[in-house]
Amino acid sequence: MKTIDLRSDTVTLPSQAMREAMARAPLGDDVYGEDPSVNRLQERCADLLGKEAALFVASGTMANQVALGVLTRPGDEVICDQGSHPVNFEGGAMPALWGIQPRTLQGDRGILDPVEVEAAIRPDSEHFPRSRVLEIENTHNRGGGAVYPLDRVRALAEVARRRGLDLYLDGARLLNAVVASGVPARDYAEGASLVSLCFSKGLGAPVGSILAGDRDRIREARRLRKRLGGAMRQSGVLAAAASFALDHNVARLAEDHENARAMAVALSSIPGVVVPHPVETNLLFVSFGGRSAVDLVGRFREAGVLANPEGSRPDLVRFVTHLDVSRDDVLEAARRIASLVG
Ligand SMILES: *Cc1c(COP(=O)(O)O)cnc(C)c1O
Repeated sequence: MKTIDLRSDTVTLPSQAMREAMARAPLGDDVYGEDPSVNRLQERCADLLGKEAALFVASGTMANQVALGVLTRPGDEVICDQGSHPVNFEGGAMPALWGIQPRTLQGDRGILDPVEVEAAIRPDSEHFPRSRVLEIENTHNRGGGAVYPLDRVRALAEVARRRGLDLYLDGARLLNAVVASGVPARDYAEGASLVSLCFSKGLGAPVGSILAGDRDRIREARRLRKRLGGAMRQSGVLAAAASFALDHNVARLAEDHENARAMAVALSSIPGVVVPHPVETNLLFVSFGGRSAVDLVGRFREAGVLANPEGSRPDLVRFVTHLDVSRDDVLEAARRIASLVG
């Protein structure tokens, strides 16, 4: 029986063609700024995101933490959604690395309300932490892959600008939002001081993220990357995979979104099954009549379907579509699940 792995879009393996591009990549020592493949990727991503400069980093977590480190001082506060990646999935990095604290708001599927954001900004007083950064996530992971409407991003950027905060855009899956909405990446990133992209999610590269912004902030980001041990040497072998992903794996994200929707439709026909969010991109959250997600994923595994409990609610199972699963695979997964729970 074929295993169908829908735990995450990070499980994709580099294709033969991607490996060949990695093998051919011209290399140098990136700590000396001499790796042509890294330099090319950084320039290309700066352009894609409408920024002056960019920095290749080891992971999305490193992109987020370097960005927050650049934009804050100890004691500062970061306004973000309660489901945001840095709050939930980065090992407590905000306080541990930078001495900063999150001020969490409850977004609608992770999408923040500009009025609530403005109300959360602290008055200027020695009593309070200093509100310093507004962090948003597009698409929003815990929000079920929700796409930020462009006018909402602009409204939040306007609040941040007017109140003297920097906007940081965690764009781990920004290109999913771009493909789903047709909005160019640089438009989403326009009001952000720093913006990231992840190559090892739906884009199918094995390793790496990018952080983009103005020259001064990226120079400081380089220092913090070094401090974290993330300055790599012939990392062009990885940057080449990221460049290959940008060449070949962006437009096809639409297939992942269609496959997630097809799976949602197939699962919805099972009695008691509820898909609580509209499926906008490649994440699909499903409740099976309120049954325990932990128990369900164990049963699905025995049937060769891998999924994760979503985690924000005990009954939600998360399925993620990606490059290494086809339409037939997701429909087969839905059939196996229907025979278990139907
Ligand atoms: C996956 C993800 C990241 C980065 O995760 P890494 O595993 O460190 O690459 C950052 N933000 C969001 C929203 C993510 O989904």
